[in-house]
Amino acid sequence: MENFFNNTNHQVSTPLVTQYDDLKDNYQQIFIEAAESIRVEVNKFKPENPCNLCTVKDCKIEKKDVFTLYPVNCTYREWQLKILTFLAGDYRQKLKNTYKIMMDKKSEYSCARCGGCCRLATSEFSYSQLKQKAMKGDKFASDFVSVFVPFESEEDAKKANPEYFQLLNELVENQKIYYYYCPKLDGNECSDYQNRPDVCKDFPHNPLKLLPSTCSYNEWKKSVSKTAMMLKAKVDIIEFYKNKLG
Ligand code: SF4
Ligand code: SF4
Repeated sequence: MENFFNNTNHQVSTPLVTQYDDLKDNYQQIFIEAAESIRVEVNKFKPENPCNLCTVKDCKIEKKDVFTLYPVNCTYREWQLKILTFLAGDYRQKLKNTYKIMMDKKSEYSCARCGGCCRLATSEFSYSQLKQKAMKGDKFASDFVSVFVPFESEEDAKKANPEYFQLLNELVENQKIYYYYCPKLDGNECSDYQNRPDVCKDFPHNPLKLLPSTCSYNEWKKSVSKTAMMLKAKVDIIEFYKNKLG
């Protein structure tokens, strides 16, 4: 396979602000759809009028919905436990399958060789935190620190991609962002292409993250963003069920 940074012909441009606005505008509606689809699934297990056969005489529970607190031997409590098993088992597996299909679809697109992802990368972790994670066996962190190094200053990071830098600074208020670059990038080319780690081969790792405007995977991101948002919403909702019913 040729060095994928050689070709500079296929340049696309999806402004970062547009990417961000698309995600923000759609997420609320998608979250509501996700919650409704999970509600339909869990209601399939709901027992029909178990109180008619119940021996507890002084039950005061009037509203019998999924998040009500039920006594241990109540049939509705059994329903809640079935829901937890379902969400952690079959349903989670279904989501994993959808995730795989979404990520596999990335292979329909190819890298535009713009070098954007090598020129400026970000992490919520400092360089020393990443090295610690790597030492503890975190593969992503290990790959990351094997090629990326921190910028000397935020000013240098800003010069690498002013648009990306500005947007991150506007959006992320309460979290420190660390900026990195890869010294192996030579112009737009990887000078060590054959030995690049998986963190480079697999980029982009998440269609919900902002990509450099010149990244050709913006097309993939656009084609799967609704699926990705739906998956994220469902995973968050499952977590909510787990906390409430567990
Ligand atoms: S090793 Fe190559 S592909 Fe990976 S970040 Fe550096 S320049 Fe980019
Ligand atoms: S930003 Fe996208 S198109 Fe540019 S080099 Fe990285 S993966 Fe390829």
